[in-house]
Amino acid sequence: MFLAIQDAVNTGKGTVSLRGWVYRTRGSNVLKFIVLRDGTNIIQCVVEKEKVTPETWAAAEKILIESSVEIEGDLREDKRAPTGYELGVKNLKIVQLAERFPITKDQSTEFLLDMRHLWLRSRELTTVWKVKAAILTAVREYFAQHKYIEVTPPIITGSSCEGGSTLFKLDYFGEEAYLSQSAQLYLEALIFSLDKVYAITPSFRAEPSKTARHLTEYWHCEGEAAWMNFEQLLTFMEGLLSHVVQTVADTCAEELKLLGRNPADLKKIQPPFPRITYDEALQILKKDGIEVPWGKDLRTEEEEQLMKHYDKPLIVTRYPKKIKAFYMKDDPENPDVVLCCDILAPEGYGEIIGSSQREENIDILKRKITAQGENTEHYNWYLDLRRFGSVPHSGFGLGIERVVRWLCKLETIRDAIPFPRTIKRKTP
Ligand code: ATP
Ligand code: MG
Repeated sequence: MFLAIQDAVNTGKGTVSLRGWVYRTRGSNVLKFIVLRDGTNIIQCVVEKEKVTPETWAAAEKILIESSVEIEGDLREDKRAPTGYELGVKNLKIVQLAERFPITKDQSTEFLLDMRHLWLRSRELTTVWKVKAAILTAVREYFAQHKYIEVTPPIITGSSCEGGSTLFKLDYFGEEAYLSQSAQLYLEALIFSLDKVYAITPSFRAEPSKTARHLTEYWHCEGEAAWMNFEQLLTFMEGLLSHVVQTVADTCAEELKLLGRNPADLKKIQPPFPRITYDEALQILKKDGIEVPWGKDLRTEEEEQLMKHYDKPLIVTRYPKKIKAFYMKDDPENPDVVLCCDILAPEGYGEIIGSSQREENIDILKRKITAQGENTEHYNWYLDLRRFGSVPHSGFGLGIERVVRWLCKLETIRDAIPFPRTIKRKTP
């Protein structure tokens, strides 16, 4: 609700002064309805020609949507209104008379993306930003409850983490540098200072194709903890996800409903989450008539098929070593697979978390780097972490916009971020 209305209701004041933007107008030559919007909500304001000054009436007649205004009026209870109130206008002052708003009904997705700086005021997107803020708050809350320290890793880096093909290169004073794909290596360094750390930063990936779940710039929440083993990692992530989902279902019930998501459905997302191995995933797919050769990564279609069997996030562990990053620890019970885990969201929203226990032994780590065709020289500082007090440790990365997309039921991840960056788009 508009803060001024909340205030008036609390103090029993009948007259309020509101500031905001014109969301809609309609009416006749004696009566105008102006729906006013601010960051909190919308409220209908009624202007009656007979009851206002000629100046106010003239303003009401010429006003266009998205004009900024100050309106003074009497608050009247209206059970059907979104805020429960409407305003009988006494005074209307136009702060800036807007030009004709370029966005009207039924415009193409591309046009709306070109107009993103204006379209982000829409009710749907405004609601998404609120849910996203609640998700970020809940994430930070969970880390704080578990005594993790928030840290600030670099964005410009000299080393890659997730593989060269999606790396953004940068001219760094004549030398090559990269935009960070993941803060993981830096978080691994920081656990030796703080034990348990997390960071929420932008990550950059030069994703070559346009999909509903890839951005080239996204907000990445990563956690890393010394002494944490694989089982503890799985339990921690399960706890984090359910805390976020439960909190958002409680604190954003109205917003979620507006987006077409029933909060009651989210309340069912409680631990334990189902856990299967990669091998078991292949068996399930095989029964469904989909043959994935052992050693191939699961593609989007396969993940979607798998998720038809589950209505909670699914924990998939122990993928083949050869398709996973060098820093993941081998499974002591099966050297062909690693102690890694992807968490897949229900309803086909795809992977939301990637994680693993990390290899802590320097010799094995060097062998893994070499086996992936890379030069251990490039990882000198990282290998130091295995030279000076190495300990077992684990960590994960969660894509904030992936979670936003899932909880807000968005068709595409582009609507989970105010200014989406994709292969075809870097403006506005
Ligand atoms: P995918 O298979 O979907 O490309 P990934 O295996 O490349 O994901 P990780 O490297 O494990 O992902 O990154 C950790 C998390 O970051 C992912 O689980 C996902 O939530 C998020 N993420 C990764 N790439 C993107 C992207 N391009 N846009 C938005 N979020 C992403
Ligand atoms: Mg990827």
